[in-house]
Amino acid sequence: MSTPELSPPRPAADALTAPFWDGCREHRLVIQRCRACGHYLHLPKPVCRFCLSTDLGYEAVSGRATLYTYTVAVQPFHPYYADKVPYLLATVELAEQPRLMLFTRLTECTEDDVRVGMPVEVVFDDVTPDLTLPLFRPAS
Ligand code: ZN
Repeated sequence: MSTPELSPPRPAADALTAPFWDGCREHRLVIQRCRACGHYLHLPKPVCRFCLSTDLGYEAVSGRATLYTYTVAVQPFHPYYADKVPYLLATVELAEQPRLMLFTRLTECTEDDVRVGMPVEVVFDDVTPDLTLPLFRPAS
């Protein structure tokens, strides 16, 4: 009898967040955007926090960002990550709009390689056939 492979925790996609996760599976970073005022919104909301419009859609963005802050995770928050510590948890500010933040994990670098304010770019980690996570690496 074999042990089933350990699965990572999964996002609970709903009508608001499904376009984001669908975009990730297609290797596109898709962010909610207000059609009335043009502001991007993340996390997705039913109402624009800038103008209160409910006329909201989703658009692919460039995937370029700046490292806003990060921390080194040395304790796995879930058994799936036990063999992946230490890793870098980060908040990145997307290039499309000031204070448009995305919580992520840094990849292809170590703590010695990173500094707040550095340019980073999205890469997609196909964790399972139906789960792709947006990670960020130092921009090339
Ligand atoms: Zn708006």
